[in-house]
Amino acid sequence: KDDQSLIESDKPKETFSDVGGLEDVKKKIRMNFILPLQQPELFAAYGKEAGGSLLLFGPPGCGKTFLARAVAGEIDANFMHIELQAILSIYTGQSENNLHDIFEKARENKPCVIFIDELDAMGGSRHQMRQHHDRMLVNQLLLELDGLQAENDNVFVIGATNTPWYLDSALRRPGRFNHLVFVPPPEEAERQTILGLKIAGKPTQSLNLSRIAAETKFFSGADLEQLVSDAVEFAMERTFETGEIQPITHDDLKKALKSRKATTLEWFS
Ligand code: ATP
Repeated sequence: KDDQSLIESDKPKETFSDVGGLEDVKKKIRMNFILPLQQPELFAAYGKEAGGSLLLFGPPGCGKTFLARAVAGEIDANFMHIELQAILSIYTGQSENNLHDIFEKARENKPCVIFIDELDAMGGSRHQMRQHHDRMLVNQLLLELDGLQAENDNVFVIGATNTPWYLDSALRRPGRFNHLVFVPPPEEAERQTILGLKIAGKPTQSLNLSRIAAETKFFSGADLEQLVSDAVEFAMERTFETGEIQPITHDDLKKALKSRKATTLEWFS
């Protein structure tokens, strides 16, 4: 793999309206990232500037990546997705340089959101051999984050982890990832919203999404998306059998529910 294949870069079209629920999280991001960019003079009055970093944590599939993309979509920014594990395993010995290059590239393409997935891959309880190398990488990241604070250059860093307890403590110190935000599994009303978003525009018949929402406690957004995708398949099977477009029904969703389980429950135990 070369450098490029490790870093996906694009300009997301998703916005906050595509993210179901998570209103508190969106509000916090709006206040700290989006409004300063849109109305810098108001924030300058308080000595605040656009840019900075945010750490999202929570169970898998609840929208951390999706949200990060939507932040970029909201501010019409470029989006760079870094999978830290991949950089660590492939660039042993030179991943510090690599990390620096990524930040440089982001500066050339600002406004830019850098999304660092699997942040816990840095440090934490891992093999002794790696520790020295990991430390260097953590230090490099700290340097880049400190640089962001100083330069106010419209580069935003969003980190994400499923296991915040493995995170190197230096990364959690104030001034580094200065906003720590929990991204929880959706509540019942949010589940209904997400189901609605995922099913929007598809042919349906007498769905009762509030009932499905009530029966999907601890389902993540990704679980709900999967449920809709299963139901779509059932409707498509009928479509192929009959030769006519068949709507997705409540029974399709109920049937899908039989073979799918909530995946966030494990995270809490
Ligand atoms: P991981 O920790 O495993 O990386 P994640 O928290 O980053 O998970 P995402 O990749 O953002 O989860 O979510 C997976 C998919 O689930 C998204 O592409 C999106 O389609 C859907 N999804 C999750 N949460 C939401 C939400 N709140 N609203 C709409 N879609 C959602």
